[in-house]
Amino acid sequence: MFRAKSPWSKRSGLAGLIALVALAAQPTSAREWIPLPKPRPAEAPAAQERAAPGEEGAEEGKPDSKPADQAAAKPEAPPQPKPPSACRVALTDQLAIAPSIPDITGPGACGGTDLVKLEAVVMPDGSHVAVTPAATLRCDMAREVVDWVRDDVSALAVLLNTKPAVLDNFDSYECRGRNRQKGGILSEHGKANAIDIRLVKMTDGRSVSPTDRSVPRAWRDSMLQSVCARFTTVLGPGSDGYHEDHIHLDLAQRRGGYRICHWEVWEGLPQIAPLLPPERPAEAPPRETAANTPTGQAPSRDDSREAPEQSEPQQAEQPEAAEPPAAPPPAAKPAKPPKKHRAERSFRTQ
Ligand SMILES: [Zn+2]
Repeated sequence: MFRAKSPWSKRSGLAGLIALVALAAQPTSAREWIPLPKPRPAEAPAAQERAAPGEEGAEEGKPDSKPADQAAAKPEAPPQPKPPSACRVALTDQLAIAPSIPDITGPGACGGTDLVKLEAVVMPDGSHVAVTPAATLRCDMAREVVDWVRDDVSALAVLLNTKPAVLDNFDSYECRGRNRQKGGILSEHGKANAIDIRLVKMTDGRSVSPTDRSVPRAWRDSMLQSVCARFTTVLGPGSDGYHEDHIHLDLAQRRGGYRICHWEVWEGLPQIAPLLPPERPAEAPPRETAANTPTGQAPSRDDSREAPEQSEPQQAEQPEAAEPPAAPPPAAKPAKPPKKHRAERSFRTQ
């Protein structure tokens, strides 16, 4: 076995040598698949003059620069917008027309975040109650105003057989001290956390002010209860002298959840009678005047006695209407005119 293998090995080595010679003799095209480097061109720079990638001397900005340099060269990603607040998500177009507006920073401690421009409240029936002018408020405050108008102001309007149309915004965001006193404590208005309401315009054309003493007191009492249940600060007539013609509402947060509800709902009418009588409602019963009687004559004595009697139940509903000294003194005129005056006044307050 050993002798037979030795000659075979010699033949094997010889065959390999022949194969190499044959390969070298093949045409160039047959050898192109071999991945050999191409010959260096004569104009190429000397190999020792060029620094290896990553070594000192390598040119910056070239593809072989350090990875750290590449990261530094990349432009920074634009800042991501803040995610909307829970209030912003909840205050949909179904509830209000209240687009978001940029944060306000300063001057001083004034300003706020998560602000909206409350332009209108969308009522459950799809109608809009405009806020004029549009109120700049924090979203939480705007949401409370929206809920108040949708739920409470609409119900109060029903008591007057009408619907709200416009919420008169007397003041919302304003960088100022309380009651506009310079150097005073910053008002919640300066934090976009307050609104002043002067009146509500109704769809029937009436303008109803919660501070107007000619508005039925029961209605004003209901308004007081609604705002004091919703807002942490309510200031109205009798609070500090600065809120006799409007009510201030805000959501100030105080230690222990302390709330302020300071609004004296005055009784009756102001002592100074208006210069002109109010417009007579269409639904009011006809006046008993000579022109209205079938004969064109003045009502009989019995008729004239009925008129004051008809006014008695209205006086009973609003006992405060009989109290103000606005009525002419009884001694100066007969007993009949004061009663008639009170009856006319009751039309205005309904
Ligand atoms: Zn105010």
